[in-house]
Amino acid sequence: MRRKPVKFLSYGLAAILLLSSSYAFRKHGDVENIGNRSVSGRVFKILPNMVSLEKEIQLGQQIAAEFEQTARLVEDPVISDYIDRIGQDIVKHSDAKVPFHIKVIDSDEVNAFAFPGGYFYVNKGLILEAENESELAGVMAHEISHVTARHATTRMSKGQYIQLAAIPALFVGGYWAQMGIQNALGLGINLELMGITRESEREADQLGIQYLWNTGYDPNGFVSFFEKMKRQEKSQPSRLAGWFRTHPSTDDRIVAALDEQRYLPEKDMYVINTSEFKSVRTRLLEIDNAQKAEQDEINSLEQKRPTLKRRTDGDDGDGTETDPEKRRPTLKRPTDEPE
Ligand SMILES: [Zn+2]
Repeated sequence: MRRKPVKFLSYGLAAILLLSSSYAFRKHGDVENIGNRSVSGRVFKILPNMVSLEKEIQLGQQIAAEFEQTARLVEDPVISDYIDRIGQDIVKHSDAKVPFHIKVIDSDEVNAFAFPGGYFYVNKGLILEAENESELAGVMAHEISHVTARHATTRMSKGQYIQLAAIPALFVGGYWAQMGIQNALGLGINLELMGITRESEREADQLGIQYLWNTGYDPNGFVSFFEKMKRQEKSQPSRLAGWFRTHPSTDDRIVAALDEQRYLPEKDMYVINTSEFKSVRTRLLEIDNAQKAEQDEINSLEQKRPTLKRRTDGDDGDGTETDPEKRRPTLKRPTDEPE
């Protein structure tokens, strides 16, 4: 009977020790050191990344150049400057060791992706889908984290360690650019080779939330967007296919992301939205609608022309016959905006 309290005490002590150690040794737990710490992944958890930062930038540049040969960019300076500013602000409050080049892609697919070395692309579809700036920033912070943690080249180093002698074919830009293009188009890509694994997604979630918080945004912006995507998964499968392929949506990710937010020191104020976000999105929507109306007109003119080619139902590409109004029932009318 007398031994019971001792036993109880030692269990309690063990529990406290376990809790405090898991807190202290939580990976990337030192958020006060963001910017001065290394979050670069280790190969097989212990070996260093074999690709130098210089090589990584060079590789990214090569991939980006090839990718841009086929990608259609949104060139409107108001939109691209705004997206660049948001991204650079997050980069400044992150662990990034490379400069970032941020561009907007004219694609309806809800997605964003970053090549190694800081070549970062945000799809038009993502900007239009985000409800506020913190959601957009949340997804951008997640992608920036894949670069700061060097997921792609860590994965490449793995291959190098396995085949030390071989010059990996992965270094040849073409292969990577191809994957980038497929990614942008929402086609099937080799996720593991892009550095997208269950583990790297979790890590990018964690770092992204930390960067979001450190930049001054509501750290819940990422989870909020993530959950919204999950709700829409069944109703809009084709438009979101790319998103789910590159962002495997699982409940444990949401649980872990919410958990990460609990660790962050509380701030008095967080940015959720800005008037600039609203006006930029309205502008983008207007450009988008004008483009689609023009395309519709071209299509209908082509239909009227008595050509020999017969149209078969159902083989139309995305957006050729769809009413833009029906596609985005949640968007505000442009007339609501004073600017
Ligand atoms: Zn990711």
